[in-house]
Order: sequence, then structure tokens, then C-alpha cells
Amino acid sequence: MTSRKAIIIGSGIGGLALGIRMQSLGFDTTILEKLDGPGGRAYVRRVDGFTFDMGPTVITVPNFIEELFALERGQPRLDQPDFPDAMLREPRVTAGISGGPHTSRYAQIIPILPFYRIYFDDGTFFDYDGDPAHTRAQIQAIEPGDLEGYERFHADAKAIFERGFLELGYRYFGNLPSLLAVVPDLLRLDAVRTLFSFTGRYFKSDKLRQVFSFEPLLIGGNPLAVPAIYAMIHFVEKTWGIHFAMGGTGALVRGFVRKFEELGGTMRYNSEARRILISDPRGGTPSRYGRKVARGVELANGERLRADVVISNGDYATTYMNLIEPQYRLFNTDARVRRMKQSMSLLVIYFGFRADGLSLDLRHHNIILGPRYEELLRDIFDRKILAGDFSQYLHLPTLTDPSLAPPGHHAAYTLVPVPNKAGDGARIDWQKEGPRLMDTVLRFLDERGYIPGLCERIVHKSFISPDYFEGTLNSFVGNAFGPEPRLTQTASFRPHNRSEDIERLYLVGAGTQPGGGTPSVMMSAKMTARLIAQDFGLS
Ligand SMILES: Cc1cc2nc3c(=O)[nH]c(=O)nc-3n(C[C@H](O)[C@H](O)[C@H](O)COP(=O)(O)OP(=O)(O)OC[C@H]3O[C@@H](n4cnc5c(N)ncnc54)[C@H](O)[C@@H]3O)c2cc1C
Repeated sequence: MTSRKAIIIGSGIGGLALGIRMQSLGFDTTILEKLDGPGGRAYVRRVDGFTFDMGPTVITVPNFIEELFALERGQPRLDQPDFPDAMLREPRVTAGISGGPHTSRYAQIIPILPFYRIYFDDGTFFDYDGDPAHTRAQIQAIEPGDLEGYERFHADAKAIFERGFLELGYRYFGNLPSLLAVVPDLLRLDAVRTLFSFTGRYFKSDKLRQVFSFEPLLIGGNPLAVPAIYAMIHFVEKTWGIHFAMGGTGALVRGFVRKFEELGGTMRYNSEARRILISDPRGGTPSRYGRKVARGVELANGERLRADVVISNGDYATTYMNLIEPQYRLFNTDARVRRMKQSMSLLVIYFGFRADGLSLDLRHHNIILGPRYEELLRDIFDRKILAGDFSQYLHLPTLTDPSLAPPGHHAAYTLVPVPNKAGDGARIDWQKEGPRLMDTVLRFLDERGYIPGLCERIVHKSFISPDYFEGTLNSFVGNAFGPEPRLTQTASFRPHNRSEDIERLYLVGAGTQPGGGTPSVMMSAKMTARLIAQDFGLS
């Protein structure tokens, strides 16, 4: 019997993870990628001897990676527990090699400590490493009165983690009743209040409220708007640590591609999908109300590829609005898609600099907070204006892996949250503002002493802006993380992994359930694989 054919549009981490899972389910899978290499947001920029991971750098839940590398053709293991007891019993990783035996055949993953160094605008900092004793000592130094609040925060965030992540993380919310069933628990845990106001129940210090609420920004969430269920990120990190793939996240992506190909999958680069082919199951002319079936994909060069199942790993909004003609979409209409609030965008600056005689106080992951927190977030998410001040996440991977830069140099990137191009955000001219903001941020790092003499030492600088997310990654209004994670766009309110409009069409990745971030898109792949297995009678 010939195998069923699957096409996945997009080779982001979610697309690759699902590719591996589809091969394990017995499909013959082709991944179509618009760019000339894999990874999507995790694409790698190589220039002047520097290797820059363009996107994700903070790797969490290495067990999810191990699960993928352990899969084999015909052994999808979808019925195994998502969080085996052993995974929860593991002691917190402090050093050495993380990941498991299967991972180590494809990539070398190591824990990073501290997880983050968080700098406040007055130059003081907080090292977060998940160690409660160390955390308490630092709280004591900032605001001794908040120690008792931290104990309560810890207990409550743990309860949210256990209910929200361990029990519901892999649950697919296909309809409202499935969500309503868990609402009483979430209300009891106060997990639907916004995260920033949630932290206000525990911490008097502004600095500590920032420390315990900034993390959703790493997946496009506004701490003033995400539900407190995202307090679980704190616990996910504390439980399984933060890790780095030696050679960069790109090395992990290459490992996923290798695994996918070893299982028989096919990668096709420079292959942009232009249209998802849809037909009426009865073979007639598609009618507005008939049930429609995805049959394949048409590429930008006109080539048509047939498949039994089509999955889009591309942006949710552009998948529906650009790849599927409106007459096939009763649910995901243009109006509905446009109503969703998209996550913020980013200016990401990649830079390489001479390291001779330089002593740096920075860590591998640094959050450098600006003078304003709440108002800056409102500028970015609500008012959509480019403020004069900024906060940033500075990644300095050469502290861990010097091979990413030529000898005697560092490779770094710094990421500045900026408005997306919806509403007034469309007025920002990134051709003009991009270079200006890049130079301002680099000068700031130099003048504030984070990297003394940086402007003199720089040998490479380049940036991406909302224009890149929109034009190169096909992301609606230049969003960097898909639809914004907020209560009204979470669980069953988030775009569904099984299309409501078209049979045999699925979506996977940051725009769908459960959401953005590398562990979530790997979860999204597992949830989608389960739906496909169910629909094809394979489970
Ligand atoms: C700068 C940055 C830093 C981040 N840092 C972190 C971090 O440290 N930790 C973390 O966990 N998460 C981080 N994230 C979020 C994380 O990177 C994403 O949530 C995740 O990688 C998204 O994966 P995805 O599967 O949704 O696919 P994407 O990475 O969005 O990939 C989608 C792919 O589809 C392709 N595509 C789109 N349309 C078409 C088409 N028509 N035809 C063919 N191909 C198409 C695109 O080219 C792209 O390759 C970061 C994101 C960014 C932007």
C-alpha cells in the first residue's frame, strides 16, 4: 500500500517537529520552505565569520526535544504520558550536558546559569537561576518586606504550573465547553487576572514585580495583558532549567532536519506556497456551504503538489487570508482574522565586536530594563508609538560557545520590543527608524558600560525590523510571535490546529494552540499529530 502524503508549509521548529511526528505516523511528508534554509524564526545568519541565531536562544524543557529525537518510523508514541514521573523527579540541572541519549546523537545541549541577569535602569541587577535560596537572598537585598510575598508567589505559581502546564499543556481545546470545564480551577487559582496585577498581590517592590512578570515578553505577551497562567513560565524554567545548543539554536534545527530526513521526510527550500488547493469531496464545483477538503499546495512557481493532508506552519493570519480563497472560509473570514490582536514586533540587532582586553560583567542572557515599565508596554502594545526609551534582551552566546565568532571576537544580538504594524504602528518608517534605533541602542550599551568601547570595537552590525517579519516571514502586520497571548486568544479562543473550515487542513506553530515559544510549538506539533492520528483512524 502506498503511504499517505503530507505537506507541511514552513520549516519553523513547529513545522519540523510535526514533520518528524508525521513520519513516525507513517506519512510521506514534504516540508515546503520559502527561505533557503530551515528554522523560520530560528534561521541562522552567517556573516563575516560570525554565526548569529536570528531568533530563539532560550531553550527550555529539553525533554520535549528528547521525545522528538527518540521517535521512529511506525512508532509515534502518542499514547505515552506527556510528563512521565521521571521527568518531574529529575533534580534541577546545574551543570554538564542536558538532554537525553537520543538528543546527544543530534545536538549537544547544556544548561545555562544564571538563567538571566536582569538589569534595572539604576544599574543594579537580579540574577535569576531558579535556586530558591539564591532568589531569597536577592529579594532580601532589594526589598526584605517582599520575602513573605515571594513564598506565597512561589506556592501559587507552582499550583498554576501543575494545573495549567502539566495537566492542560497538551490538551487541545477544540470548543468552548472544553475550555469552560477548566475555568473554575483557573478562577480558583486567580490565573485569569493579568500577570502584572497578579504579581502586585505578592510584591511591593516595582523591581520585583518586573522580575516576576517580564518572561511572557519572550513569547510576545504583554505582562499587563497576559493572564497569570503565564506565571507558569517561571516554574517551567525553575523545574527544567534554561539550556543552550552548542553551535547555537541553528545546530538544534539542523538536528531536527537530519532526524526528519532520516525518517524519510523531504525538505524543499526556496519553495513558497502560493495557494492551498481545495476540492469538494463530491467532486463538484465548490459551493460556499459544502464541506471542503485540502488536496495539496500550489507553489509560487505554479507547480502543484498533491497530498492527503496539508498543514500550515506559516503565520495564522496569512495562511487563511493569502493561501485560501475567501469562499472556502466561513469561520476564519478576513474580518475574524483581522480582529485578532497580533503580538508585538521586534528590532533585533546582530553585532560582532573585538574582545581584546575587554572584561564584561554580562551573562549569556541579559534583560536590560529601561526607566519605564508599564508605560513603555502601553507605548508598544496599545499606543503603538516608538518611544525614546527601550528595554532589551541582550544575548551573548560567545560567553558559552566561542566558536560562534572569529577568534578574539564576540557575537551578540540584542532584541528590542517595538510596535507591530497594525493601526498607528503602520506609520513608523522602519527604513529610517531601523538604522537610527540600532545606533542608539548600540551607543547605549557602550555609554552605560555594558560593553565599554563597543562603538569602536564593532566589526559587524545589522538588524531586522517589523518589515522582515512581514515581508520575509509572511507574518501579518509584522508580528514577531503570532496572535498575542491574552485571555481572549488563549486555549479554545486561539486559532485551532484543526481547521474549522476545511477538512484535512491543520495548522501548527506559534499562532495556534497552545502558543508561541519553542516548547509550546513542539507541544503544538504533538497536539496536531494527535488530531491527525484521530482523523485518519491511526490512534
Ligand atoms: C527574535 C526572537 C527571539 C525569540 N526568542 C525565543 C526564545 O529565546 N525562546 C523561545 O522559546 N522562543 C523564542 N522566540 C519565539 C520562537 O522563536 C517562536 O515561537 C517559534 O520559533 C516559532 O516557530 P513556528 O513553528 O511557529 O514557526 P516559524 O519560526 O514562525 O516559521 C514559519 C516558517 O514558515 C515559512 N513560511 C511562511 N509562509 C510560507 C509559505 N507561504 N510558503 C513556504 N513557507 C512559508 C517561513 O519562512 C518560516 O520559515 C523568539 C522569537 C523571535 C522572533
